[in-house]
Amino acid sequence: MTASLLLGREIGGRLKTTLLEEISKLTLQRTSPISLLTIQIGGATDAALYGKAIGRMCLSVGLHHIASQPQTCETNQNAISFIHDQITLHQPTGVLLLSPIPAHLSYGQIVAAIPITLDAEGTRYDAAGFQKNRAYPPTALAVLETIRATGLSLTGLNAVVVGRSRIVGKPVADLLLIENATVTICHSHTQNLQSFVENSDIVVAAAGKPGIIRGSWIKKGAVVSDAGENVLNGHPVGDVEFEIAKENAGYITPVPQGVGPLTTLMLAKNVLALAKNRST
Ligand code: NDP
Repeated sequence: MTASLLLGREIGGRLKTTLLEEISKLTLQRTSPISLLTIQIGGATDAALYGKAIGRMCLSVGLHHIASQPQTCETNQNAISFIHDQITLHQPTGVLLLSPIPAHLSYGQIVAAIPITLDAEGTRYDAAGFQKNRAYPPTALAVLETIRATGLSLTGLNAVVVGRSRIVGKPVADLLLIENATVTICHSHTQNLQSFVENSDIVVAAAGKPGIIRGSWIKKGAVVSDAGENVLNGHPVGDVEFEIAKENAGYITPVPQGVGPLTTLMLAKNVLALAKNRST
């Protein structure tokens, strides 16, 4: 048996239509557009490219995109004041700080200036429990979308998440719990990773270690979602030994065509969730 491929672009195409419909419907009930403010501090090319990709994504789903960049930012306090001023000026639905920022500034301190109710990247998803519609880190949402695309009910299935970072592993585990899967989180101190993977109907890889999950460990018919983005001998590879894993899995994401292409789109999902918490 060879696994069905879970392709980010295909899944994203379907999701875009749903998001466009929902955003259009909600926009009609409001007095102002649903908007995403992106803040770029410094001139890093990666931040600029990500900002442009977000702009294209916003256009495709009917979100209003506002891109702001201060002329200079000497201190964290300058950056924080700039963010506060931009929020007051634009009254956005969601805000995102593009990274990287210049090395002399603290990403952690500056991103914390974004109020939790506007946090489009779910940077504080674990502190947002009081909100009905929470924003989650986009990569975690992207992983869940690939798994949902199988159409399987996750209730009662055994899931293993390899990795426990606050931007991928932990929030994925949280999302799988919400779907009623039985979830185990593995990390660098886990003993006998193989035994956890072999017993899992769902395998999420988020360790950033090429091929750490052997293809032969994958249970027959399992769903495998690989968030790992590594480079091996000049080629992009995931954390799962893909060629062998696909012979065992029922469904699998390739790297780089699986989880990656969905992540930017997940911001729209977050902004929509934030909009649902507010009336204007
Ligand atoms: P981190 O380095 O923050 O976390 C890696 C996690 O993997 C840690 O929890 C670590 O455990 C665990 N780990 C490391 N080695 C092992 C091991 N041998 N066995 C089991 N667990 C292990 O990485 P991120 O969460 O930021 O990213 C994970 C992967 O996802 C990376 O490849 C990254 O490039 C990719 N990524 C992809 C994105 C996308 O859009 N597709 C976006 C963001 C990330 P411990 O906590 O004990 O150290």
